Amino acid sequence: MLLFLGNMTKKKLHFNSRVIHGGQKIDKSFGAVMPPIYQTSTYAQSTPGGHKGYEYSRTHNPTRTALENSLASIEGGKYGLAFASGLAAMDTVFKLLKPGDEVIVTHDLYGGSYRLFTKIFQVFKLKFHFIDLQDIKEVKSKINNKTKLIWVETPTNPMMNVVDIDSISHIAKSNKLLLAVDNTFASPYLQNPLIFGADIVMHSATKYIAGHSDVILGALIVNSDDLHDRLSFIQNASGAVPGPMDCFLTLRGIKTLAVRMERHCFNGKKIAEFLSNSDSIEKVYWPGLKNHPNHKIAKKQMNDYGGMISFTPKGSNFKNAIKIIENLKIFTLAESLGGVESLAGHPASMTHASIPKKIREKSGVSDSLIRLSVGIEDYQDLIDDIIQAINS
Ligand SMILES: *Cc1c(COP(=O)(O)O)cnc(C)c1O
Repeated sequence: MLLFLGNMTKKKLHFNSRVIHGGQKIDKSFGAVMPPIYQTSTYAQSTPGGHKGYEYSRTHNPTRTALENSLASIEGGKYGLAFASGLAAMDTVFKLLKPGDEVIVTHDLYGGSYRLFTKIFQVFKLKFHFIDLQDIKEVKSKINNKTKLIWVETPTNPMMNVVDIDSISHIAKSNKLLLAVDNTFASPYLQNPLIFGADIVMHSATKYIAGHSDVILGALIVNSDDLHDRLSFIQNASGAVPGPMDCFLTLRGIKTLAVRMERHCFNGKKIAEFLSNSDSIEKVYWPGLKNHPNHKIAKKQMNDYGGMISFTPKGSNFKNAIKIIENLKIFTLAESLGGVESLAGHPASMTHASIPKKIREKSGVSDSLIRLSVGIEDYQDLIDDIIQAINS
């Protein structure tokens, strides 16, 4: 029986097996193969404090524990922590800091992250330096005795820039800074930042990890006992935890993460190549292309290149880009990414609308930029859809 497969074989199993078995136990009550949805807020105690490890579901819930162990296993970390959303997970990380502390951040990042930093934590007197993390000199120049954390997003959303986690982690270590990596775009299938020296890996599990566009959930994965203690204290004290049903849906999604990612990468490559060879397209941003400025770093730290692609049509402007997106029939015009179905979005007016135009355009998010989350449909149908959308 594979009753305690989790800890025993975490190191030995390959990723394809860890998504299914990593950190999982067969349920003790009835041998349920999938963890039951423990839809309960509280747990009976025989005497005050006499419980079986669970007393209140904000603190712990068995379905959440199963998910947290799975998250740790697939990221190759010691501890996983699940949250009500990706932003709730980030919120928890920044509560490790105190007023006056400074943070160095990728200038090219998810709009909601930018909003959390500037509209919430700046009010609580954290200071953020938004810079190009590929420029090591610039990173070093921003470090002073108040600096506490470097926040990396790679590949970045939506420009698909790749930051060298290993070299940033060297700077973080030699200056005793925490390094946190938003690994949402890559998913644990493509990239495991802990290997390159990150202290905290964050995921919007809403995206590839859950993978079916049916749940909002966030995750943190760490190796350090101390960091885990501090983060789980905040998780319980601030309370942004996911419900058991959402934990179950995410666990179910994780079972197919490896096979889904394989197809996302395959389709991503087909579509990126099609776009690169098309006369109607000006520029394609996909780290798997040899002419991508960070292709070498991507090759070093990623196992493949994923299904996120951005592009600008030739001679396009705001109106024109919107028209193409509206013409798509298989790609759905929607926020979000990482689901089995293909989505298309217009970052300037959607995901990145909360970033001021001047700052947005500086990092390349122009009015004509279109972002694709390539799903797992047949790639030929997706290519045909793009052709008809451009030509109609
Ligand atoms: C979606 C997303 C988030 C936020 O996650 P939610 O689950 O929507 O709260 C953070 N970072 C990146 C890169 C994302 O794509």
